[in-house]
Amino acid sequence: MAKRHPERTRSAQSARGPRTALRKYGPLVVSFILVAAGVFAAWDIMRHNHPDDDHTHEPFGVHGGLIVSIGEDEEDHYHAEFLFEKGGLIKLYMLGDDAETPQEVVSQPVVAHVKGEGDREPTSVVLRPIPQPPDRMGKTSTFLAKLPNDLRGRPIAVRVPEIIIGGRRFDFAFTSPASADPADAPAKVREEEERLFLTPGGKYTDADIAANGDVTARLRLGGVKIAHDLHPKPGDAICPITGVKADARITWVIGGKAYEFCCPPCVDEFVQLAKAMPEAVKEPETYKMK
Ligand SMILES: [Zn+2]
Repeated sequence: MAKRHPERTRSAQSARGPRTALRKYGPLVVSFILVAAGVFAAWDIMRHNHPDDDHTHEPFGVHGGLIVSIGEDEEDHYHAEFLFEKGGLIKLYMLGDDAETPQEVVSQPVVAHVKGEGDREPTSVVLRPIPQPPDRMGKTSTFLAKLPNDLRGRPIAVRVPEIIIGGRRFDFAFTSPASADPADAPAKVREEEERLFLTPGGKYTDADIAANGDVTARLRLGGVKIAHDLHPKPGDAICPITGVKADARITWVIGGKAYEFCCPPCVDEFVQLAKAMPEAVKEPETYKMK
């Protein structure tokens, strides 16, 4: 199979595509759009194209994750590397044009629409900025999100409608096959949830478990339709995990107090934190937009 340059087939495009690139790659862009129509099909193409032609069969980046192209303009082109980690965590590394150099972006929560294969509706997931050295103040090159447990281990299609890089808005999309991690099997996930929510530890007590109805967050809150609001107003309650606007329907009692979250996966993460690092959990009223 002929080696093709990855930018031309990747399921990603900038919000304001430059005319020059369009002229140059016009026919390819059109064929690309056709491919993107079946997002799952795009994965198959992606796995046969890699920015580094020495590794044509390896779609994986420097961190071992999935490389996604962002932007169709050659002078303004980036990559993201997605990694699926234990416990349904998704890590996103922002990379430069070479798909290796870390790329700083303004520290911003990013919404991803994630759809499991066969699902009718996508679920909105917040990728939150996790700045780490040498990221400068107010910038980040890394993001982290927790996938809802019912999507773990399944083939998913991910669409990020907006991320700001260098003052410009970009969008991108990709698909990922089912995770091969045996920990993502539904029975294992349920076991893990029950261990998390139904056993006390740290700041999370037996009284809390009873107050929450002796169930897991997925069982009690799984039916709530999530609409992440990235722009809370001063005084609004914010999710202690993502910092985006909290939803008053999504509460969980920890240390005898009710906390509000933006979505059920954040409840998982916060209870995990309350058990492992109770000192990191502050009073509920401190999680307010200033
Ligand atoms: Zn959340």
